Formats: sequence, structure tokens, C-alpha cells
Amino acid sequence: MNGFTASGSGTRDTTDLALTDPLTGLGNHRRFFDKVDRLIRERADDPAPFAIGLLDLDGFKPINDLFGRKAGDFILQQVALRLGAAMDQNALVVRFGADEFAFLYPMVFSEEAVARKAQMLIEILSAPYDVGERTARLSASVGCSLFFSGDETTEVLVNKAETALYHAKRNGRGGVVVYTREMEEAAKRVTRIEQALRRAVSAGEVEPHFQPIVDLKTRRTIGFEALARWYDRDLGHVSPATFIPIAEERGIIGPLAQLVLRKATEAARNWPQDMFLSFNLSPSQLVDQNTGLQILSILSRTGFDPRRLEIEITETGLMTDPASAEKIVEDLRRVGIRVSLDDFGTGQSSLGRLREFHFDKLKIDRAFVSSIMDDKPSEHIIRAILAMCEGLGMDVVAEGIEDERQADRLNQFGCGGGQGYYFGKPANAEATLGYLRESMRGAQRMRVA
Ligand code: C2E
Ligand code: MG
Ligand code: MG
Repeated sequence: MNGFTASGSGTRDTTDLALTDPLTGLGNHRRFFDKVDRLIRERADDPAPFAIGLLDLDGFKPINDLFGRKAGDFILQQVALRLGAAMDQNALVVRFGADEFAFLYPMVFSEEAVARKAQMLIEILSAPYDVGERTARLSASVGCSLFFSGDETTEVLVNKAETALYHAKRNGRGGVVVYTREMEEAAKRVTRIEQALRRAVSAGEVEPHFQPIVDLKTRRTIGFEALARWYDRDLGHVSPATFIPIAEERGIIGPLAQLVLRKATEAARNWPQDMFLSFNLSPSQLVDQNTGLQILSILSRTGFDPRRLEIEITETGLMTDPASAEKIVEDLRRVGIRVSLDDFGTGQSSLGRLREFHFDKLKIDRAFVSSIMDDKPSEHIIRAILAMCEGLGMDVVAEGIEDERQADRLNQFGCGGGQGYYFGKPANAEATLGYLRESMRGAQRMRVA
């Protein structure tokens, strides 16, 4: 039996109905759980593994919107028919959710084998669907997991398949991912970091460090970029490249950013008044309409002049929801906050975006700067970016300058600003104040001489 029953066939008792999806005639998630529970009990004394999978239709919602709900239902029925027909003996397929299906392969024993089966299902679903006069195409992503030991419950198995499905979707459409131990380790590590980070944020333990940004002609420091630093007793130093994406994904970025901005503006308040503070905003903050208000309320509480603040955003940050990002940026710009485009050259680098969006400054990514001395294409790209910025009236900062030759070359090309280990590594508030005092004394000595 393959679990597939054509809709409208014969009489069914009430238990059967409770386990059936009325639209497609397939079993529903309850049937799936029942069946897997039973199989786990059967395999208690039998070491043979089995496989399950979750299949999610990519882009079903737009099809529903485009062709209408009736057509959407019809496509789901077609999908169910194709999946049902593709199941071999003993296998089960059910409709698990709106556009999600689940399958169970009791006789599949390896990761490779279930991946092959899943790939076949994706191919079967990719053939066009007739919708009246028109045709529609669909792709699907699948996450699978294998049952190996009696310690696992149906719920654990389904959670693993969900994690795998999440990875499959993140890799792009139309792929299969089988849950692995490494994924489990990675997931556990992310959860550990998430928990430690939540605690650290509420205890106020994430600190801003400050990296100088200089005028390449005079070599005078004109401002600092705030960079989040976190030390955890058990995990040690965790890089922002690791914890910022986790904070984003797990919804901690709001409170984290507020904490770091508050501390950074408290420190920068005491710097010379002509020095700016640059602060990074994450993509998800540009989707959240509270971001603008939160920043303004921190500035007013710490008494930091908004005209001394710059925010750095990346192209990825603009892409998710350009209209929302634009509104937030408008609100910030209205009070005098300037906006930089960070890491230019690594993302989509859409020139169209530079026309639609007004940036005050552009930061050239380290990747170009590091190869400027021995790579002609990098040199040409940097010169082209500089010419473009001049035309658009944008300031430019080159990131990741590590030696004098790079600094000198960039200055010759007419790049106004520079940042990198050569001028200073990120340092804490106290060390930064020391650095500023030292450079002011230096300037005074120069004036006296
Ligand atoms: P970013 O905004 O592009 O920051 C520049 C990164 O390059 C920093 O890494 C900095 O330490 C590093 N860097 C600067 N000069 C040099 C150099 O000469 N050589 C090399 N090899 N590296 C250099 P960091 O501090 O690890 O930060 C990584 C990224 O994490 C940042 O990239 C930024 O996107 C994100 N980030 C850091 N702090 C925050 C924060 O408070 N909020 C948000 N949303 N993102 C943050
Ligand atoms: Mg930055
Ligand atoms: Mg950058």
C-alpha cells in the first residue's frame, strides 16, 4: 500500500477521514506520525534504518496568486497524484502542510539512497502542469533524515528533516539535503552561541571596539568605525562574522545593536567634535520599521549629535525589502545621519541601486585593496569606482589597507579615505581615547615646531 487513495473513492470510516487530507486524498500529517511511530516500534529490535523526507514546493504561493486558488488546488492535486504514483511498495506519501509533503521509505537504508529517491521526486514534479489554457512549472526542495537508533522519536526525526529542508532551501531551489551528524553539531553550536549571546546581551557584555578611518592625504584620523566584540567565558572570543548572522537569524540583533550603539555613542561623545562615528546596520534591521526610532532615542539619551553618526549598510541589506530600507534611511537622513554603502564590490553591486538610492559614502571592499599592488584588474576596478563616486558626489573609503604602498597608491588615485590595520586595529574605548590624545599631542608638536 502506498498511502495514496484517490479522492472520492469508496466509503471511509471516521478514523480514516481524520487521517486523510480532503483536497488531495493523501494521508495527512497525523497519518504520517502514526505510521512512523509504528515503524519505530517495529524496528526496536531490528538495526535496519529507514528514511523520511519533507518536500516543500518552491514558489507555490506566487502560482496561487497568479492563477487563482482553484488552480492552486488543482496543482496540489496533480502534485499528490504524481507523488503517489512514484511511491514504491511500503512507501508512504502524505500532505504534511499547505504546500508541504512528507514521505516515508521503510526500506531505504542509506543517505545516498534516500537522496536519489528525493531527487527523482523533484524531477517528477518539475514537468509542467496544465492549468486551463496555460501551463505552470514548479520546483521543490527536500530535506531527509534517517532513523538509526531506538532513542529517536518521530518528532526528533521530523525535526531533523526540517533542519535539512531549511539547509536545502538556503542553498537555493530544487535541492536535496540529508541530515548529517555534522549538521547536528553545527546546529548545536549555533544554539549554544545563541543562548550565550542572549545572556551576554541582557548582561550588557558585548562591547564596541573602534577602528580609525583616516584622510589619506593628510593621514589625520577623521572618524572611527564601531565593531562589536564579545568574549564569553566558555566559548572564548567569538568573531562578529559568526555571532552577527546568528543574532540576525535568531532575532537578537535589535537588542544587540542597541547595546553596542549606546556604548559606542557614550564613548564617542568625548572625542573631538569633528570626528564621526560609523555604525553597521544589519539587513534585518532595515526591514524593521522600529530601527529608526530606536537609533534616534539612543542618540537623544546619550546626547550624541546625529550629524556625527554614519550608518553602514550593505547591498544585501537593501535587497530584502528596498521600500522599507529606503524609508528607514530617509528618516535617519532627515536628522543629519549620513549613510555609507559598505563592502562595495562583493555583493550584487547593482549600479541601478546607486542611482535610486543616495549614499553619502562608499566603502571599497578589502578584496580589491589587498590585490591592488599586483593585480591590474583590481586597479582598474578601483579607479572606475573612484571616478563613479566623484561623479555621484560620494566620499570614498578604502577598507583593509595593510601597508604604506597600498595607502600611497590609493592616495595617488584620488581615494579620500582609508581604513585598515596599517592605520590601526580595532581597539576598546579606553585605548581609543589614548590613541586620540597621543595623536593630538603629535599634531600640537607639529604646530609648535
Ligand atoms: P565590516 O563592517 O566590513 O568591518 C570591517 C572588518 O574588517 C572588521 O572585521 C575589521 O576588523 C576588519 N578589518 C579592518 N581592517 C582590516 C585589515 O587591514 N585587514 C584585515 N584582514 N581585516 C581588517 P570584524 O570586526 O571581524 O567584523 C566583521 C563584520 O561583522 C563587519 O564587517 C560587519 O559586517 C560585522 N559587524 C561587526 N560589528 C557589527 C555591529 O555592531 N553590528 C552589525 N550589524 N554588524 C557588525
Ligand atoms: Mg562596516
Ligand atoms: Mg566593510
